Amino acid sequence: MIALPPKLPLDLIRAAVKAGFGLDGEYAPLDGERDQNHRLKAGGRRFVVKLCNPAEGFDIVLCQLQALEHIATVDAALPVPRVWKAKDGALFQRLQHGGTDYPLVVLSWLEGEVVGERELSPAQYRALGGVIGRLNRALRGFIHAAPAARDLVWNTVNAHRLTEHLPLIAKDRQSFVDWALKENARLIAPSVMALPAQIMHADIHPFTLLLDGKGAISGIIDFGEMVHGTRVMELANALADCLVTGHDIEVTIGAMIAGFVRHVALEEEEVALILPLMRSRLALTALVTAARRKADAAVTPQIAALDALSLDMLAAIKDDEFEGVIRYAANFGPKPAARGAKMLQRRLAAMGPRPLLFYKEPLHMVRGEGVWLIAADQRPYLDCYNNVPHVGHANPHVAEAVARQMRVLNTNTRYLTDESIAYAEALKATLDPALDAVIFVNSGSEANDVAYRMAQVWTGATGMLVMDFAYHGVTDASDAMSPSNYPAGKFHKPHVRELPAPDTYRGAWRKDVNDAGARYAALADAEIAALKAAGHGVAISVIDSAFMTNGIIDAPAGYVQGIVARTHAAGGLFVADEVQSGFGRMGPPLWGHQHHGVVPDFVTIGKPAGNGYPVGVIITRSEILDRFVAETGPFFSTFGGGNAACAAGLAVLEVIAREDLAGNAERTGAYLRDGLRGLMAKHPLIGDVRGAGLAVGVELVRDRKTLEPAKEETQIVINRLKDEGVLVGSDGRLGNVLKIRPPLVFTKSHADLAVGALDRVLASI
Ligand code: PMP
Repeated sequence: MIALPPKLPLDLIRAAVKAGFGLDGEYAPLDGERDQNHRLKAGGRRFVVKLCNPAEGFDIVLCQLQALEHIATVDAALPVPRVWKAKDGALFQRLQHGGTDYPLVVLSWLEGEVVGERELSPAQYRALGGVIGRLNRALRGFIHAAPAARDLVWNTVNAHRLTEHLPLIAKDRQSFVDWALKENARLIAPSVMALPAQIMHADIHPFTLLLDGKGAISGIIDFGEMVHGTRVMELANALADCLVTGHDIEVTIGAMIAGFVRHVALEEEEVALILPLMRSRLALTALVTAARRKADAAVTPQIAALDALSLDMLAAIKDDEFEGVIRYAANFGPKPAARGAKMLQRRLAAMGPRPLLFYKEPLHMVRGEGVWLIAADQRPYLDCYNNVPHVGHANPHVAEAVARQMRVLNTNTRYLTDESIAYAEALKATLDPALDAVIFVNSGSEANDVAYRMAQVWTGATGMLVMDFAYHGVTDASDAMSPSNYPAGKFHKPHVRELPAPDTYRGAWRKDVNDAGARYAALADAEIAALKAAGHGVAISVIDSAFMTNGIIDAPAGYVQGIVARTHAAGGLFVADEVQSGFGRMGPPLWGHQHHGVVPDFVTIGKPAGNGYPVGVIITRSEILDRFVAETGPFFSTFGGGNAACAAGLAVLEVIAREDLAGNAERTGAYLRDGLRGLMAKHPLIGDVRGAGLAVGVELVRDRKTLEPAKEETQIVINRLKDEGVLVGSDGRLGNVLKIRPPLVFTKSHADLAVGALDRVLASI
């Protein structure tokens, strides 16, 4: 992909220019990325003598020269070089050397200085956009076969072909480039086929632009990268390359586009591609430069300067902010609100005071893809936190399934519908046959709430046994199940009793105690007795198999079995809350309670079930449902079991099976834990690494002997990990456990990124 400029002796060139073009004088070398260039002073005039790279082929050289001739005819005032024809009237000459034919070209010299890194005024940027627009317009009637056939590495539309060079980019920047390349493949490459295309310069940047003494654009030089491609690429390439750290990006972009569209009226689809193309261009610059450095090939000062910027600028072009600016400048949208849009104030005004926002500086998310969340500044964040997008953010299979279903039918379970039956069958196929009744609701909270209502009817009791620091939802009943919702010490609902967490890291019985499970389970006896004594009895015990809010503790063998046995003995029913632990989160088998070897009376399902489409499910025994309906009347939830919800649920199950995501959770989770444990030797703050599958807890302590919880440090780590581009949460009663719970499409390379980031963050503390 790299063709270095030729290095022929000057004497040869001088002689050839003299013979072919009738010019001779004083030569000085000029930089050139692909060609051997010289400045020639002859007869009081100045020229550029170009010995072109023979790798190009003569037809490309001829095309460039014909394009310059064409421009001179269409818009003679455009500041582009003029072709100095040879004595025989040809546009170029051939110089033979060492068995190779080199095209030799003489162009007029354009006066001025390169723009370089200086910041132009808005009027200058507008004028610059105008010149680019004029150039684009002047070339639109120009035809030549060569640029279309040219397979140029710099063709922005094909940036995704350079993915192989991604490892050459600095680790902390790779995700930006990766995202841009994926966007390129997904969005740009397919869309451009239907858009206006033409031959263009394609490489207008601060080092191919000249300014005269009065600050006017006095030259666009170097037509060596001409391609045939989507028209708007000319503008997008120039925009990307004209961004400079510290300059007002909004002004640069807005003014250049406004200038451009005075001469070329872009179509709306083209305008929509400007930002993606800019990102591709910046990613491309970074990749090509990195590849050249690696190949030890010449990186001209121009390219090096652009490269230094490209990664910064890739991070800086904010989708939501600049989209408005771009649309307005291109005459497609209203004047955008002031930049920086005071999101937080707007949110408070729109939604009322809500203290729950992640991070000291909240993140404004605009997109998701797989394991990535993309913020408004286009920075991709590795999502190690969110378990709703179980099969990946914006999973196309789920999105398609829901969209297709919404276009066909979305009604309720009072009609016979294929989707609800199929989804119920699919869920049941994964569970113990005793669980034969499926009730659809809309959320995990509702599922737990309804399970509790059913249990009250079945048992005649009202009491609940819950883990200390559990979370099960927001409704009256599920909130009562959730000690973690309450400020410390204020949780005292008489019908709810807390079970001490079976924490073998810092609890009463630790890893070295063989029957820790039985001992912790026996603690339930006192709570059951208390519920009975107070007349509540035991309606349910409820456990999240992943013990997520408890700090992702590794419950000792026999613990959950012990609780289930005691619950049943007390006349109660056991609820396996699978909102967090289900769908393969803990690795195979699919459900958390199966890892603990129990058959629950209720399985409650939420969050990941629809990958973001609201889906809640209770699965129980028909006899329990029967009694509930007989005593309380028919049960029906409007949206629960709707066709679209079930289509989402089915699609999620399909992806889990097809991509073996439970298996992946097991393998990647183990790999991730290994990586995290590997950090323990270096970082004493890590006290424990645990969990199952992709439910991973990292407990931070100030002292591995006293286990003093490092709560403040945990918050610092979470915030600094965010700065590193990695999202994690915290949990546990003491607030000192990092909660790593990514979408199940998480791979080992993602695990490496997360471990690397944590390593750097811990080193900084
Ligand atoms: N149970 C568990 C274990 C949960 O983690 C949650 C939500 N985080 C819920 C229930 C409540 O689900 P939802 O927010 O859908 O009501």
